[in-house]
Amino acid sequence: MSHETSKKLFDEASKHIPGGVNSPVRAYKSVNSTPPFIVRAKGAHVYDADGNSYLDYVGTWGPAILGHAPSEILNVLNQTMKNGLSFGAPTPKEIELAKLVKQALPSIDLVRFVSSGTEATMSAIRVARGYTGRSKVIKFDGCYHGHADYLLVKAGSGAITCGVPDSQGVPESFTEHTLIAKFNDLESVKEIIETHVDDVACVIVEPIIGNMGCIPPQPSFLRGLRKLCTKHKVVLIFDEVMTGFRVAFGGAQSVYDIKPDMTCLGKIIGGGLPVGAYGGKKEIMETVAPLGPVYQAGTLSGNPLAMAVGLKTLELLNQKGVYQDLEQKGKLLEKGLIDAAKKAKTPLCLNRVGSMFSFYFADHKVTDADGARAADKKKFIKLFHFFLENNINIAPSPFEAGFISLAHTMDDIERTVHVFAGALKKI
Ligand code: PLP
Repeated sequence: MSHETSKKLFDEASKHIPGGVNSPVRAYKSVNSTPPFIVRAKGAHVYDADGNSYLDYVGTWGPAILGHAPSEILNVLNQTMKNGLSFGAPTPKEIELAKLVKQALPSIDLVRFVSSGTEATMSAIRVARGYTGRSKVIKFDGCYHGHADYLLVKAGSGAITCGVPDSQGVPESFTEHTLIAKFNDLESVKEIIETHVDDVACVIVEPIIGNMGCIPPQPSFLRGLRKLCTKHKVVLIFDEVMTGFRVAFGGAQSVYDIKPDMTCLGKIIGGGLPVGAYGGKKEIMETVAPLGPVYQAGTLSGNPLAMAVGLKTLELLNQKGVYQDLEQKGKLLEKGLIDAAKKAKTPLCLNRVGSMFSFYFADHKVTDADGARAADKKKFIKLFHFFLENNINIAPSPFEAGFISLAHTMDDIERTVHVFAGALKKI
């Protein structure tokens, strides 16, 4: 398989764009390689500049749940753009999308559309701080909520220490209000809230972690968080940028039957165009400008093309059998990979919720970020390259989730299992 054209493009891109990419993980540094340049995507496949095709489990990092470029979506886009690209004014489609989001996630009374997941989480936290009049934010080790300064933190020496910046360019004072707890460890949250009593504005959590691979919550964890936040009047924010409309139409909150105070959305809600959203309880969202004193705005927020594509995507997902279909495919993949690993006597931990999954080469259960970090990364890198050479595209990092789309067929899944079994004999 040749990658010559992609390599040339990467060299050229590197002269003009930092690291040759517009988002760091795309550079393939963590798998000691350079990326294929993608020129086309359709259904379950992506096609690179050298003419190679790949069965794709990246799904543009989550949004492509219908598969790439479905004709229904392209038709809507074509029709909508005939009327103009952006108006900077309210449009009817925003109401329709807001209604459908509220129907899917009844914890949301009011919703504001933005243009990315980062904007959604950043704005939700500002609102939580404005609403409570408090400063501190609790986040979890291993959860990613976009690249706002105060969210780029790593845990300090103990759970209740302040987070320290995880990126240059972030002054320490910017992260002094960010506190890091352990996912699936309610005690670590309790300790922080009790230490900073009356100064914690919100707890933000990926209800299923998707940014350390896929790590589901233990049954009592989210319920415990809900109780703790209610008791201390702390705003509970579910960051469902990845899980929203992915693990169920109603997101992780419907799967685990927990009502957060606020929810952040992104990825699928834009169907491949740049959209994010945050919403929640009326009394909290009424603090947002122009109703209230918390400022948040956006030139392209509620962009008509993005709203139309998002709406059509959600309508297509809101049909009978959609999530059952994804579950069936997820189950087949899970069983296949586990069986192959058993046969090869390779330790494997497979985590999956619906069509979101990841595997860790580990003989322990991965329930938090430390568990994910302890898995065998070298083996993952070897598997990644074996997959790529066999025309299968997974994310170039053991800390990213994989995504199955409606366009994947059972045959596609079986082929993936077959290649995986072949890989285990060699890596
Ligand atoms: N929140 C979660 C859970 C995410 O996975 C991401 C991105 O991967 C974000 C927020 C940030 O979204 P965006 O990349 O659209 O800014």
